[in-house]
Amino acid sequence: MNEDALQSAVAVCEERWKKRLLRERQSRKEAEALLEKKSLELYQLGLKLAEESEQRIQDQEAAYQALFDYTLDGIVIHEISGEIIDANNEFIKMLGVSPALISGLKFDGLHSREHLERVKKARTAIAENGAFRYESELVRADGSEFSVEVSSSLLAFENRSVVQTFVRDLTERNSLIATLISAKEEADLANQAKSQFLANMSHEIRTPMNGIVGVTELLSRTPLRTEQSELVNTIQRSGENLLDIINAILDLSKIEAGRLKLEEKPFSLEDCVESALDAVKGLASEKSIELLCEIAPEVQDGVIGDSVALRQVLVNFLGNAVKFTEDGEVKLHICQKGLEQKKNGSAVQKLVVKVSDTGIGMEQEVLNEIFKKFVQVDGSTTRQYGGTGLGLAITQGIVNAHKGTISVKSELGIGSEFSVHVPYRINIQVQPKRRRLYPDKRLLLVEKHPSILAWLTNECQDLGFEVVAFGDPISAGRYLGESDIAFDVALIDMGMDLLDGFEFAEKMKALPGFRETPLVLISCLGAETLEKASNASPFAAYLAKPVFRSRLDEVLDLVLTRSEGGADSVIEAQERKKRSLRVLLVEDNPINRRVAMIMLNNLQHEVTEAVDGQQALDLLEQRGGDAFDAILMDVYMPVLDGREAARRIRKLMPENGPRIIALTASALPEEKDEILAAGFDVLLTKPVRIDLLDEALSACSD
Ligand code: ADP
Repeated sequence: MNEDALQSAVAVCEERWKKRLLRERQSRKEAEALLEKKSLELYQLGLKLAEESEQRIQDQEAAYQALFDYTLDGIVIHEISGEIIDANNEFIKMLGVSPALISGLKFDGLHSREHLERVKKARTAIAENGAFRYESELVRADGSEFSVEVSSSLLAFENRSVVQTFVRDLTERNSLIATLISAKEEADLANQAKSQFLANMSHEIRTPMNGIVGVTELLSRTPLRTEQSELVNTIQRSGENLLDIINAILDLSKIEAGRLKLEEKPFSLEDCVESALDAVKGLASEKSIELLCEIAPEVQDGVIGDSVALRQVLVNFLGNAVKFTEDGEVKLHICQKGLEQKKNGSAVQKLVVKVSDTGIGMEQEVLNEIFKKFVQVDGSTTRQYGGTGLGLAITQGIVNAHKGTISVKSELGIGSEFSVHVPYRINIQVQPKRRRLYPDKRLLLVEKHPSILAWLTNECQDLGFEVVAFGDPISAGRYLGESDIAFDVALIDMGMDLLDGFEFAEKMKALPGFRETPLVLISCLGAETLEKASNASPFAAYLAKPVFRSRLDEVLDLVLTRSEGGADSVIEAQERKKRSLRVLLVEDNPINRRVAMIMLNNLQHEVTEAVDGQQALDLLEQRGGDAFDAILMDVYMPVLDGREAARRIRKLMPENGPRIIALTASALPEEKDEILAAGFDVLLTKPVRIDLLDEALSACSD
């Protein structure tokens, strides 16, 4: 290469290096500028972040401080040993101390002297479990004390453990509780006063009602023209309605005041059911409604409980069922849904009591409403059917008190069914009766009503009879005429179409081979039928509807024993013996004395009158203890009241004294116990009904 070529090559190289250097310088400059820019950006971002996090911390601190200062509870942070590190405004306000002084105080020392022990316990518990809550009293700066709830827990603070304690002032809560207690006490007192007022009112109203209802009953037994007798009936019905209302209001007030006291006494379920059915029998037979009663065989009859309460439930259901049914039947069914043996040897049977009817029924929507007070599905029912709308509310109250349940099913135009599930303790003293069986006897049954026919067939088959049953007298008559089968006994319904029970019985007796067959009349009529039956020779005995298992057993036993040459007359055995009694009547109210006097005369008893307890005692002392068979005595009287008089009579004649029957217008259960405890044997509530008076006195004839 020559010199020139070499120089030009060097120049080219230099040029290239220069350019490259320039480019590199340029790039470095750009890189430095970029670096500077990015550093600046980073620096600014760092600054922003730092500001933001500081702001967040500040916000959090402010929120905590606000919470700390303005919460409704006092908050104290203190050492485990109790020295206060910090406290919020609320706590300072609670104690009434100056904020500057608070951090010098010891939390434990703020408690009242009596609570120091509790604080010590709290300290140990916090150390062991990390938290503890207790109630105590703190002392304010002015020396006054106030109740607090304290809840403490351990807290990590500046690398050590401190205690954070929440203090809630209970002054307001306690005063609210005190106000509530006193309001409740006041309400209880008012309720008691209301019940007392109702009891007094009921007493006041019953006394003149005794005059009205009693005199009306007596008046209805005298000869009256048709119009007069209708008027007397109206007075009687109105009086009874008024009494029902008074009783319902009184019952409800007892339930609402929680004063419903249930008795624990042995009773027979069947007797209770019979007495409830008795109460509605009259109306049912007036309306030609068939009353049915089925008590399942497994139900134990002897129970312990409150028979009056059960009767009331049954009467309410049955009364409504009969009231709201125009034709068809009302059925009471009792069965057992379980038996519970207790460890102490007693047993409880869970009973299901159902009352169903074929009446007007109800729509589904109203079924939940009818158990409320004063509710009637249709307000006009009161006009058409009577009633207060209280019956089911009372029934529910009674069932609840028995720890039972109540339910209803109903369909408009088809009928209703009310059910109660209720437990009853079995009375182990009463052994279930052994039924006499008739394995080789044949029984004829003629009964119009299909349900009764089915029930009686079943029952008689259970007793071992061969049963031949007919639903009408014509087919039964045809059968008897055509076959030569003999029967040992026949049960015949009284109210059959075409041929009534009497006519059928006479025709049957006229057939050869049936002259000696004992016939039993089944009827829903009462004593009148019995009388007619005893005059009309075809019948050997009488069975009242609804037929009870025990009655059926009794009657079959009697007629079959007699046909075997046993008892003389079944009718006679069924009639109660009666004799005239010497009764001492003690009553201050002249009208009521007159009413009782006439009733006793009507019942053919011999009466001596006294106007107060003292006069009665004087008479007893003069004439001697055996001068009277019974004493019928008012409870409230001037000079010497009935209770005191009864006590003295019992003292005077501790043994074999006359039976003392109390007359009272009060219906409170606690009073009833008190009256009986004074020495009375039995209690009659005014207005007195002649049949109940007769029943109470009949015990003296035994
Ligand atoms: P009341 O004294 O009016 O009968 P209850 O509390 O016993 O009061 O009954 C409330 C209402 O429930 C009745 O007025 C009636 O409308 C309805 N009711 C109760 N039982 C029956 C029933 N067996 N059939 C139809 N409606 C009934």
